[in-house]
Order: sequence, then structure tokens, then C-alpha cells
Amino acid sequence: MRNLIILSACCFVIATAGAKDPPASPAGASAAATPAATKPAAAAPAPAPAASKAVAPAPAKPAARPLSAAEQRVIEEQAELDLQARIAARIAEMRANQQQRAAAAAKARKVTETKKKKDVVAVKPPPPANSTHWAYDGEFGPANWSKINSKWSQCGTGGRQSPIDIRDGMKVELEKLAFDYKPSSFSVIDNGHTIQVNVAGGNYLTVQNRSYELVQFHFHRPSEERINGKSFEMVVHLVHRDVEGKLAVLAVLLERGAAHSMIQTVWNNLPLEKHDTVQPSVVLDVAEVLPERGDYYTYMGSMTTPPCTEGVLWLVMKQPMQASPQQMAVFSRLYPFNARPVQANSGRVIKESN
Ligand SMILES: [Zn+2]
Repeated sequence: MRNLIILSACCFVIATAGAKDPPASPAGASAAATPAATKPAAAAPAPAPAASKAVAPAPAKPAARPLSAAEQRVIEEQAELDLQARIAARIAEMRANQQQRAAAAAKARKVTETKKKKDVVAVKPPPPANSTHWAYDGEFGPANWSKINSKWSQCGTGGRQSPIDIRDGMKVELEKLAFDYKPSSFSVIDNGHTIQVNVAGGNYLTVQNRSYELVQFHFHRPSEERINGKSFEMVVHLVHRDVEGKLAVLAVLLERGAAHSMIQTVWNNLPLEKHDTVQPSVVLDVAEVLPERGDYYTYMGSMTTPPCTEGVLWLVMKQPMQASPQQMAVFSRLYPFNARPVQANSGRVIKESN
């Protein structure tokens, strides 16, 4: 019996040493605990830290005193029971510690995962389906236009989108653009994306044997198109439509310089509120927006705002026009940035005047 007690004590010491190792994995713990629990199975599992003290010095010594065999057995059995109880208590303590550590680790993992999910949501919020609202930045910006409304899919999937960085044009003898513009009545609208000037009928542009009527013109800051990587401070887009509904957009780049009288007439009639229209009594001579030199770039592209419809003939005048810093500042107070990023050329043919 004494041997059994000593054996149990040894097992306990091994189990305790194993338990103190940080690895604390449930498998390791049960492996360390098992021998202690198994051995004493004959006499039942045994006890704890104080065990060695309790057992070693214990009642085993009184060998000198003549104890009866029965008394001896009672003492030994009691010692065994103590040892088993302490080992069981120690194992329970170890298991509780492990469970706590596992729970803490799981909690930490959950917190990290939740944070990651939140970060992802903050970066890419899903725009509402089939909205008609769009913008030049943020959730409703150009990168999401195609997802905002199912009718705007070309903004994302189209292969002939505008604007582009105009470079490597083929220098050829392009026909002269024929303008038939005359002083016209007009209205000025702040449409929430730009200042747009709707022009009365009767102003024509003829190119490639097609006659396009001027419908409206509007402004972007900075210029949407680039010429060999260079963007300009502003651009005017003059939108024309032919009888079949085909669009031709003439772009006139604007740089800082002298004040521009036609632009001043438009600014003089700016609406005070967004989505308001002003109908002036004066007339506008749109021809004043045309540069002296008639050379230009041309390529096939799209509208630069949703729905990004393709099949638009683009004509970009090479010579920029000027507007004064004050005139630029007026527009920039209303629309500091309203330009779509440049789109892939995708191997499109660009022609330019010699
Ligand atoms: Zn435009």
C-alpha cells in the first residue's frame, strides 16, 4: 500500500509539472492528467500540491510503534483518499483554467472578425438598387455608377467610354467643322451636377455630311478630357443631336486668362437654388465660345454621365479658350469638382487635324 501511495504521489508530481506548462491545450492536459487518474484507479484518483507533504512525512513513519494491521490499513486508506481528492481537485482547476483561456481566445477572435467586417462595410457601402441619384465621389461616385441603376450598366461594362486621355492621334487632313450659330434665347439650369445652358433651336454644326443641332452646353471643372496627360482648368461641352438622335459633343477647353463675355452672360443669370431655372430676356451668341483655329481631335465615345450611352461623336478643339480667374472662381464655388475620371482607350482610333 505504501508503494501505491508513493507511486500515486509520483504520478501526481508528473501531472502537476505537465499542467504548469503553458501549452494548456485540452489534449495535452488530459494526456498529463490521465496517467494520474488511471494509476490510482485501483484505489481511485488521487490529490494535489500539498500531496507530497501530506503523503511523504505522513503516518507511514510510525513504524517504531506497534500498530495493529487494521490500524495501519485505516491510516493508509485515509492517505490514499486524501491524495486522490487532491489530484481530482487539481485536475478540475486545470480544466477550468483551460476553459477560461479558450473562451477568452474565442472572444478575442470574434472581436477581430467583427472589426474586419465593419472595415469592409465602411470601404464599400452598397448603393441602393435602381436609384437615379449619382455623384462625382463617394458611395454614388463614378466607380459605382453601373451598380446604382440597371440602365446604367454601360458606365461599367462599355468599351467606348468617355472621357479619355487623347494621345497618339493619327494626323490627317480633317474636314473643317461648319458652324451655323446665331444669337439665341437661352435658359440656365443648375441641375445638381453642373450649370447647363439650354439653347433655343436653330444652331447647327455640320460634320461628316451630317447636320447636328445644338441642344445645350454645360461646364466641367477640371476638364474631363486630357491631351497627352494634361488636363485643363475647365471645359465647355456643347451637345448636338441630329434628326436620328445621334449625338455629337464639341469640347472647348478653358484656361486662365482674359474674361470671357459669353461665359459672363451665363454667370450673370445663374439660378440661386439647385434645380432652379433662369430664363433671361437677353440673347446669347454661342459662336463666341468657338476658338479661332479650327483644328480638333475626334474619336467615338460616350456620354460622360449616367447612363453613359455610347455612339457619341466627340470633337475636341485643340485651341483652348480663356476665362478669367474670377469667372473660374464663380463656377468652382458651385462645383469645385465635377469630372468623370478618364476611361480606357481600348485601342480606339483617334484622328487629329494636321
Ligand atoms: Zn459634359
